[in-house]
Amino acid sequence: MLHKNRNGQGRTVLVAGGAGFVGSHLLDALLARGDRVICVDSFITGSEANVWPLKNHPNFRLIERDVCALDQIDEPVDQIYNLACAASPPHYQADPVHTMMTCVQGTGNLLALAERHGATFVQASTSEVYGDPAEHPQREDYRGNVSCTGPRACYDEGKRAAEALCFDMLRAGRADVRVARIFNTYGPRMQPDDGRIISNLLVQAIAGQPLTIYGTGEQTRSFCFVSDLVAGLMALMDVDVNPDAPVNLGNPGEFTINELAAMVLAMIPTASGLVYRPLPKDDPHRRRPDISRARELLGWQPKIALAEGLRLTSDWFVATLGDAAAPLSPPAGRPVSQRPRIRLGV
Ligand code: NAD
Ligand code: UDP
Repeated sequence: MLHKNRNGQGRTVLVAGGAGFVGSHLLDALLARGDRVICVDSFITGSEANVWPLKNHPNFRLIERDVCALDQIDEPVDQIYNLACAASPPHYQADPVHTMMTCVQGTGNLLALAERHGATFVQASTSEVYGDPAEHPQREDYRGNVSCTGPRACYDEGKRAAEALCFDMLRAGRADVRVARIFNTYGPRMQPDDGRIISNLLVQAIAGQPLTIYGTGEQTRSFCFVSDLVAGLMALMDVDVNPDAPVNLGNPGEFTINELAAMVLAMIPTASGLVYRPLPKDDPHRRRPDISRARELLGWQPKIALAEGLRLTSDWFVATLGDAAAPLSPPAGRPVSQRPRIRLGV
């Protein structure tokens, strides 16, 4: 079914960060329902392989641009999803100033576009706005426990500032803005060198290497399969009444990292054992979303249990990696040395 915009034509959707892990699944879902889709991405952590298959799609347009330098789009846009931001801790900490500027300047530029085009806007925020949470599970009204000086601050505080910008634009009536607080999401198309836990453990098990556990492994996370997250983001964009508040999107199933590693070892025949490494600074001890608001306002909840999602993701890594030692082609995000530098004006 072709969805219509206010003028009765097919809808045009801009996805910033569409060449990334989550964004590429969103592109597929939007194109599958008949939308025209514009992907804006700098490929800083995204992969050309994620958008390569779409290059000749008649409804797809790719603009290679840093969102910090994006000032206009030369065609009408009805909806904007802002997913542009490195999400893996090693990636977002590789150039922390760029991460912060992406969150603030990049989001500001995209919000300005939404205002000019009268486009509905969905911001990909994060459970990291809760920091190392003192309340559990995390409801949207919890204000969080975030370090503004630590190594995660560029991302956590950047995303918090981006939320502030979003709600200022909404309160001022300048744009119809919605904010999703996304909890740990996984699935096919994660980069094997992404550094996040599920890709690390699966790639290590497939390669017969020891599974790296940081700290005691008793810290918890809640893992959402990517198709569930994409359905939630689209439901938030399309819901008639603006929630006028952030909405948690995640899977409430909560697992310790040790439990996750045991599931991986039970699933993948491997000689791998476990190796314990120091816990990174400011690593949150536990995390689980309260998704009552998403259930109530969007009628959304995840469908894929962790065991099923792990199997789907593992199958994808096995098929993609082939010889576990061979790198993916084309390679994942650009080396830090080749990334665009952002001028701070100071
Ligand atoms: P990803 O790193 O795979 O994708 C991010 C994409 O944004 C990449 O294609 C990258 O090249 C692009 N990008 C980054 N900075 C940019 C810039 N300045 N200009 C243009 N493009 C830029 O990450 P992901 O896991 O797909 O995450 C997507 C979004 O969801 C991010 O905003 C992230 O903060 C948010 N999120 C993800 C998770 C998760 O578990 N995956 C959890 C919480 C929030
Ligand atoms: N982690 C781990 N081994 C790894 C990668 C991550 O034990 O190889 C831990 C990490 O310290 C954190 C959890 O797994 O406690 C989730 O890490 P990830 O980077 O995936 O997400 P985030 O910390 O941003 O929630």
